[in-house]
Amino acid sequence: MTNEKKQHDYFAIDLHGDILSDVSKRRHIQEETEVLKRLHYANLQKGQVKIQVLPIFIEYAYQPEGSLRQSILYVASLIHELDESSDIFMRIKNAEDLDKVMASDKIGLMLSFEGVEPIARDFELLAVFQDLGLHMVGLTWNWANAVAEGCVEDSNSGLTFIGRNMVKEMSRLGMMLDVSHLSVKSFWDAIEIQTGPVLASHSNAQGVYKSARNLDDDQIKALADRGGIIGLNFIPKFVGPSGTDYNKLAEHAAYIANLVGIQHVAVGADYVDYLIRAGRYGGKLQNVPTTQRIAGTSDQEDTSKFPSVSELSELYLALLRHDFSQEEAKGVMGEHALKFLKENLPKK
Ligand SMILES: [Zn+2]
Repeated sequence: MTNEKKQHDYFAIDLHGDILSDVSKRRHIQEETEVLKRLHYANLQKGQVKIQVLPIFIEYAYQPEGSLRQSILYVASLIHELDESSDIFMRIKNAEDLDKVMASDKIGLMLSFEGVEPIARDFELLAVFQDLGLHMVGLTWNWANAVAEGCVEDSNSGLTFIGRNMVKEMSRLGMMLDVSHLSVKSFWDAIEIQTGPVLASHSNAQGVYKSARNLDDDQIKALADRGGIIGLNFIPKFVGPSGTDYNKLAEHAAYIANLVGIQHVAVGADYVDYLIRAGRYGGKLQNVPTTQRIAGTSDQEDTSKFPSVSELSELYLALLRHDFSQEEAKGVMGEHALKFLKENLPKK
């Protein structure tokens, strides 16, 4: 299979897309195969995605007992999908793989943690996941867990004792710390301990739109000081008021660029399309456990302006309309993230 001709002059790196939720559910519950090839490849191609980061996010129904098992099922899904579709997808486990993907027609896939629920307190298990090619770690989702407080918690307690040791271990292993979803206190605790790379894979700017999931100016500056990148998040309630669109995302990009420089802006789209496909978002509230409902993973919201990754070029066009140069827009779409990953993935 060859690439369609690119419509626009960019390649994209999406630092956050819940594709594995859909893939894993279809494979392990519905016994489907070739999910990436059948259901996701065309959209990724149309959005000109070259590298997709795949978070391992553990649904509430599996926590805590089933977390490790679900995480391994995610990895198994990826391994089996790649067996079936090695002509069009490739796994990225290190900088060498990154170069190979960039020199090929294939789409590169990389794992990350969105919350360390799979390993709970056992931070020595980080090395196991690193060995599986997972180098990017977010400590929490919105809620608190054994290591840290997420952004909707309000006890101002930050990292736990184990959490601080986990970040020390991440530093020792050279893993990337993803601060998206952390509470403000957790953010500062973690960034102080982490000696390795830091990023916010999918967060916007509080200065444009206030949300607990967005970053304030001091946080943005701290990330930039450490050479970090910030992936723009397309979840409508983190972008702006209702009716918000790609132009508003360009405002977030401009705001961060004015504060610290455009080189720190990237894409962490977080298209909810994947969760809708997985049957986990935007409906059937009566079937969802109460904790999940409170957690907001089943919120219904208008995602019509950001329907799927196939529309990703809309961001590129919005950036150009917002007076970014072509070079700057290309940087945001993929080149800034590529540089960051090249610098921070293990060589081999
Ligand atoms: Zn998220």
